[in-house]
Amino acid sequence: MAFLIHAIDVLAISWRIVKPQRVWAGRTRWVKLSPMEVLREAFKLLSAGPICNTCLGRRYAKLGKGLSNAERGQAIRVLWAMETGGEASEPDRCWVCEGALLRAEDHAQKALEAVKDYEFETFLFGVRLTPYQEAVEDFLRKRFPSPWAEPLQRDLNRAFGRAFERLLASEGMKATVDYYHPHVRFTVDLWKGSVEVYIAPAYFYGRYRKLVRGIPQTHWPCRECRGKGCPRCNYTGKMYPTSVEELILPVFLEACDGEGGHLHGAGREDVDARMLGRGRPFVVEVERPRRRRVDLKAVAGRINAGARGKVEVLDLRPASPELVRKVKELKARKRYLARVSLAAPVTQKQLSEALAGLRGEIHQRTPIRVRHRRADLVRVRRVHEASGRLLSPTEAEIEVLCDGGLYVKELISGDEGGTHPSLSELLGIEARVRELDVLEVLDDL
Ligand SMILES: [Zn+2]
Ligand SMILES: [Zn+2]
Repeated sequence: MAFLIHAIDVLAISWRIVKPQRVWAGRTRWVKLSPMEVLREAFKLLSAGPICNTCLGRRYAKLGKGLSNAERGQAIRVLWAMETGGEASEPDRCWVCEGALLRAEDHAQKALEAVKDYEFETFLFGVRLTPYQEAVEDFLRKRFPSPWAEPLQRDLNRAFGRAFERLLASEGMKATVDYYHPHVRFTVDLWKGSVEVYIAPAYFYGRYRKLVRGIPQTHWPCRECRGKGCPRCNYTGKMYPTSVEELILPVFLEACDGEGGHLHGAGREDVDARMLGRGRPFVVEVERPRRRRVDLKAVAGRINAGARGKVEVLDLRPASPELVRKVKELKARKRYLARVSLAAPVTQKQLSEALAGLRGEIHQRTPIRVRHRRADLVRVRRVHEASGRLLSPTEAEIEVLCDGGLYVKELISGDEGGTHPSLSELLGIEARVRELDVLEVLDDL
């Protein structure tokens, strides 16, 4: 019997003759409603007080395609009027939304006023209900349960968004709704009657090459004075006169007319290492940009002219916020070139054999030099290729291809036994990196 009823239900749904749905009624039991019963429920809601078509229709928002909630509400009201001889026209006030929907134009106007100095192509509205509206929503859920209902917020967001689009069109502007990464996000506070604005940052991808040593990736405050200025830093407040970030970011800030920003690098090389080849990926984030469509060729030109001989950027393009995470988590293989000094003379044969022994798994404890700021643990990373030639009996040039996250200076020195195997260990003499270049970051960004 139960099976038969279920089968009829399924058929009925697929034939769209009747639409039984489970409805939460009270605390303990589920009941099924047919469309006629739904209508009876709707009539009760209509009789409960003056309600606008949209608020009425919203209780049945998932019934019928190609209809607005206002149209659903209107249809129900007409049937109700025909049955009861009541008034079929919409009342001019509503106890559910308190007329918030009617004030959409005002909110749109405020929203546009707040972003008139900012370039945007996408937007999104959000809303904070008044305590009264919250209570009414709760009351409706309990007293007029409907599995087809939508929350009031959704109708409000939609209405505000449409009003905003109309307003933009009247000003000869255009923007579309984006649920994920809108350029501007409005929050209408119905209690305060205010519109708050969040301007999303603008993101740009690129790669940088660092052609000289002694430049950190980001601004590094003086260790002594923490940026205030002291004799040690020559009253600059900085450990180094400039950084990759300081050479790149200001040009973006100016181009976007932004209020601040960051450079997110895909890892970082040591201050004294150069970054060559196709460079290292980065994402620049510009906060509260007034302009988003910028001429990136001109930006690259200005950066490269300003940082001539020190830093170069290439491959600039607009980016998404997801790319920041991707760039920060990037674990790309890297190719290094190291100039190494040896504590005692070795032959080319000894060097080549030692380098062959470096290939494979390397167990590396957090280097002594960074242990004060990074967790002390042992990582396993691979050396894929290692080759080298002697420049003199105590000096060698070594090329290494290895996993991201391997510390190359310690791979050579052994770091007092913290890295195993190491070149120093395999040669049986002390070896030390004197100069290091990143030849290539092998990513697919
Ligand atoms: Zn209403
Ligand atoms: Zn200082």
